[in-house]
Amino acid sequence: MSKLTRRDFLRIIASSGVIFGTGQVFAHTTYDTESALPSQIPIPPSLMLHSRHRWILPPILDYLLDNGYTGIHYADFENALLGLSALPDKPILISIDDITAVKGQNPTIIEYFGAMKDALVERGIKGTFAHITRPDLEQDDALWDELRAWTAQGIAFETHTAYHSVLGRRAMTWADYETEIITSATFITEKIGMPVRALVTPYGSGYDMATNTITPQVIQACEQAGLRFIVGIVNGRAPIRVPIQHNEVLYVGRVGPGVNNDVYGAQLEIEFWRTHYR
Ligand SMILES: [Zn+2]
Repeated sequence: MSKLTRRDFLRIIASSGVIFGTGQVFAHTTYDTESALPSQIPIPPSLMLHSRHRWILPPILDYLLDNGYTGIHYADFENALLGLSALPDKPILISIDDITAVKGQNPTIIEYFGAMKDALVERGIKGTFAHITRPDLEQDDALWDELRAWTAQGIAFETHTAYHSVLGRRAMTWADYETEIITSATFITEKIGMPVRALVTPYGSGYDMATNTITPQVIQACEQAGLRFIVGIVNGRAPIRVPIQHNEVLYVGRVGPGVNNDVYGAQLEIEFWRTHYR
């Protein structure tokens, strides 16, 4: 597509009937004409899964391989935004929620999440697990050892908070945000040996859909934890303007495998995201 002027763009919007919300960007990658570097980078399609999706993960992954996708971590996306590395042609972020390493959970964790990890590793697709730390419960160190070993196989871990709380509730104190976000991220980083880069918010909470704003304490806690991304669900699809600031916290969304929670739904959502939010 040839470069559009702002006037062309406004004319298209006016005639298309499409309503663009704040922060939405028109669908093509733009380039800084002076440096020839990209001035914005699309957010890769980001698929949100849970252990109940373990049966549909292998065919989803086969589809991605057949269609030229490359799995990446949030750290890879961050490096691209920082200009430190380039993204593959068709990057995809796959995150699987609600893993934990508290005592007494091991057989289930290994059976369910382990099967999903194997499906990723067997295909050479990088994936991410969103971890709930539960500092009130005894941790299973053998399970932590197992999870740490997954990182050598292309698996990353991000924080999914300490208690899987709905963030942004009025009753939450700053100490709660510290526990849910900062302490959990630090703990996972220590246990796994790789820096946590993202807060994956429980239920996509901490984001006010009415005003398109993120709970200030969530942003503040992520800043203090040195996290780059707040990973919610709604919105967070428009390309990100680069270069980003050194300690900028970015909100990005995710999508589930369609309304029917099936392979076809996942394919549709991924393709829509990749082609629409550029
Ligand atoms: Zn969850």
